[in-house]
Amino acid sequence: MRRAGRSAAAATRTTAPATGHARACKSSGAAAYRWHGHFRQAGPGRPDPAAHPPSARDSRSRFLLPHAGVRGIHVRLDESWRELLSHAAYPPGARDLLGEALAAATLFTGHTKVDGRLSVQLRASGPLRSLFAECTAAGTVRGIVQLEDGADAPRAPSQLGEDALLAVTIENPGLDPREPQRYQSLVALAATASLAEAFEDYFRQSEQLPTRLLLASGAGGAAGLMLQKLPGDEGDADGWHRAGALFDTLGEQELLDTAPRTLVHRLFHEEEPVLLEEKPLAFGCSCSAERVEAMLRGLGEEEVRAAAEATGAVDVRCEFCGRKYHFPSSEFGVLFGLPAANSSAPDRMQ
Ligand SMILES: [Zn+2]
Repeated sequence: MRRAGRSAAAATRTTAPATGHARACKSSGAAAYRWHGHFRQAGPGRPDPAAHPPSARDSRSRFLLPHAGVRGIHVRLDESWRELLSHAAYPPGARDLLGEALAAATLFTGHTKVDGRLSVQLRASGPLRSLFAECTAAGTVRGIVQLEDGADAPRAPSQLGEDALLAVTIENPGLDPREPQRYQSLVALAATASLAEAFEDYFRQSEQLPTRLLLASGAGGAAGLMLQKLPGDEGDADGWHRAGALFDTLGEQELLDTAPRTLVHRLFHEEEPVLLEEKPLAFGCSCSAERVEAMLRGLGEEEVRAAAEATGAVDVRCEFCGRKYHFPSSEFGVLFGLPAANSSAPDRMQ
């Protein structure tokens, strides 16, 4: 049983002006450096929750429907989503796709054992070049979209292009902090009308468990709800069907508009849901001067010096959080005099 159309989401797609997307600081010699993709191997970030106090509404809840034998996860990103959007100006299609991907990444971080970080990534050669949405075990989220100039992302993933690639990547800390353990799964996109459908199919195949997923995103928030049948004979015979029927009554707008506990209660109160965990979420970025230095070393001295020629410095702006890093050419000697052991910055998929 599929949800029909996306009218609820469409109703929320009327704000954010289409003013293009964030880029590296144009006023510096570093305009071309899209460095956010260079640190996937650098180990888990060190989010500082104190620097980003979570809002009460930004949370991930795990719950159980014990009679039905179904587990559920609900995610609501409100303040964190608006903070993410304050660092970039996306047209509505790209914005909503990013919000859905971020809600999905946050759901999956609660679903799977993640000690480091989990990301949802899209790559295509059409108007949407790449999308990256990440949630850490600490509960911080960030994300970014790269578009062709002046373009917007199509709503349906099947329209992203034949070569479009959707991947879920988990990075857990390894014994060597510079070598995290990395697991990547590719998710089939062909003929799917939404990211939620693509992920439902993925879980059905990879975990062999019936799964339902609803993702929603607008200018004011992003949210997701995931239900999965428990393995084995948990719950009564009709449990999964019953939970699915209740799930089907939920639309994207209601998912976006309703506070977490209210939503779970409203949908499933007859199933006597049990709240297992409630985790606060906040926007957070793991960028640091050390990582930017590693990226610059990865580019090579010649290229960095050329970039600094006009202004006598290289300025790098983190596209996730807007933070700026300034490196005057007088510091290049120290920068490139260091041993190269820590400077490997392989450009894996985003
Ligand atoms: Zn940053």
